[in-house]
Formats: sequence, structure tokens, C-alpha cells
Amino acid sequence: MKEDKKKVFIKNFGCQMNVRDSEVICGLLKNAGYKICASDLQADIIIFNTCSVRQHAEDRVWSLIGSYKGSKIIGLAGCMAQNYKERVFQRDTNVDFVVGPQDIHKIPEILNKFTSRDFFERKIWEVDTLMRPEEVYLTGFLQDKDHAYVVISEGCSNFCSYCVVPYVRGPLRHRKNKNILVEIQKAIASGVTRITLLGQNVNAYCDDGINFTKLLTRVNALKGLKKLTFFTSHPKDANIDFFKTIRDLDKLVKSLHLPIQSGADKILKLMNRGYSVKEYLVLIDSYRKIVEGGVLTTDIIVGFPTETDKEFKATCDLVEKVRFNAAYIFKYSPRPNTEAMKLADGLTKEEKEKRHKKILDLQRGISNKFKPVYAKI
Ligand code: SF4
Repeated sequence: MKEDKKKVFIKNFGCQMNVRDSEVICGLLKNAGYKICASDLQADIIIFNTCSVRQHAEDRVWSLIGSYKGSKIIGLAGCMAQNYKERVFQRDTNVDFVVGPQDIHKIPEILNKFTSRDFFERKIWEVDTLMRPEEVYLTGFLQDKDHAYVVISEGCSNFCSYCVVPYVRGPLRHRKNKNILVEIQKAIASGVTRITLLGQNVNAYCDDGINFTKLLTRVNALKGLKKLTFFTSHPKDANIDFFKTIRDLDKLVKSLHLPIQSGADKILKLMNRGYSVKEYLVLIDSYRKIVEGGVLTTDIIVGFPTETDKEFKATCDLVEKVRFNAAYIFKYSPRPNTEAMKLADGLTKEEKEKRHKKILDLQRGISNKFKPVYAKI
């Protein structure tokens, strides 16, 4: 009998949270009778799972959408969907439906409408749910047979002044620790041996008296698990107990990603990061003493509004002093709704590029000397 399943291609942009969300969408659609295909050419439906963290990522999505002139059903999911809501349809009439990150469980129902013969409505948008249902995490679909991303919390309440995440992913909500353990046990039963716990601020995790270190300890104890890691931590929620847990748990990879963002206190304050340079240095000194040989990586933003030459130099000095194993270095990108948008951005594009290149070269030299010895995760 000829197979008549509608084919869906999902194009992912952005962070690991989006990688996991795309996996969730694939699982929901497979279970609803759709076929997931590896290329847009064979697809009837294309879903862009988008990122709003930088303007550049958004520009790429708009340009790609424009290349499908009415030939396919086009959906926009993820952070851009939440950010633009129904305004997406004014921006590009090629888009047929818009689904925010908290509403992804509705995608099969939306596609069923589009693919039914008696459906004539042309535009649908779903962006109102606060917390996605737990079932989305239990579709059984994983891209990798041996590794699983597991979301432990959604959203963020830190409101770093440059960041759009709290506006598009909502306030920090913790998943129930019992549900997280059930999801991991199911993944292990299906053959997974490596787990990455995900959240915008994992070390702020708290559910029913279980904080992040307790959660790590419980996950580490699961039979069949071989390696464990997590992403991302915030310096203001890091402490000695956290570092000792990294040292002591046998399956936990000895690696910490701790974003510093700037080496100048004035800029950190304007960024609303909640720590000073000195506090950060004390923290990482403890980390290196406790987790001997532990890998340390970071994020840095250059060209934040009002950043002077002296403040940029302070970030370069910090990079030289700390000697991160690796750093993700970004040029500041103004995002709608954020507090930083209200600050005068006096730096030229050329100056931002110059600073970006300078610090990138500096870090490259350091990374070549101190290459992280990651265990495969
Ligand atoms: S901690 Fe700050 S940078 Fe990270 S997601 Fe939350 S608001 Fe954004």
C-alpha cells in the first residue's frame, strides 16, 4: 500500500534548548502520524524553530522563509514566534502558522487543520500558554541513540539587561524532580548512557526541597548512566557546595561553563548580572582549587552600550588573567523590549568589530595552549 504520510522538515536555530525542543516537535509529529524528513526538498511542511538572542539569527530566518514562495506550508516556532506573535504575518505572508515555545504541544493539531480538506483559514497563531504539558518530554523520540538532552527548567527570571529570553520564554519554572528522573530512566532504558541537563540557569534549580546539587546527585546514582553534564550555570547561583558536587560525582564531567560577560564592574552592573569581577574571580579560584584540572569556559559580550576603551581593556585583562579553556565571544546585539535598548549605543559597528576580533584572537591563543580535554558528551 502506498504511504500517504505528510512530510515535515524542521530547521533548527539557536541553543541546546532549541535542539531539544525540535526533538520534542519531531516526537509529537511522528506520534501523530507525520513523517520527519531530512531535507526541505521532499517536505510538504517546513517548521523553523527559531532563536531571538541575536539580530543576525533572526535575519537568516526571514531570508530563508522568503525563499519558499507559497510552495509549502510554513510554520514559525520558538523565540521569534513568541517575540513577533501575529505580526509575523505582516512581515512575511509566506508564514502559515506561528507557535511560541510554550505552545509546541499544539503543533500536531495545527498541522491536522492545515492538512484537512475542509480547512480554509489561512493563518493560525498560538502564543499564550505559560507552561507546556509534561507529556511533551515523553514522546520517546531522541536524535542520538546514546545521548539525551533533558530540560530541568524553562524560562528565566534574571532579566540580564541585554537578553530577550525572559520575555520570550517566560519566568523561571522548575520541572518536578520526579518527572525529570522518570524521563532520564526512560532514556536509559532505551539505550542512552549520556545525559545533558538543560536550563537557562540550571544551578538555580529548586523543586520540593531538591536543589541542583541534590538533583545532580540523584541523577548520578541512576544505574546504566555513564556520563552527565549540564548547561548553563549563572555565577550568582554558584557556590562551594556546587563545586564539591562537581568534584565528587563520578559520572559528572569535570567542566563548568560560567559566563562572565564583561571584565568591568560598571558594565556588569548595567547588564544586571548580579556579581562583581572580584566575586567572579573568587568563585573561579575556588572552582579550580576544588575541581583540580576542571575545564572552565565562558561567554563574553563586547561593545555593550557605553563600554569605554578602558572597560574593554579590563575584559581583555581578565581573559589573560583567567585563561579560560574556551570562550564564546559575541558582539552586543540590541534586542527589542530589553533594558539595554534604552541605553545610548555610541559605539560604531567598526569599533565593535575591532574589539570583537581583538579579544577573539587573544582567546584563540589561550585556547590553543589550554585546549579543554572534554570527555565526549
Ligand atoms: S541568565 Fe541572563 S543571559 Fe541567561 S537567559 Fe537569563 S536573562 Fe538571559
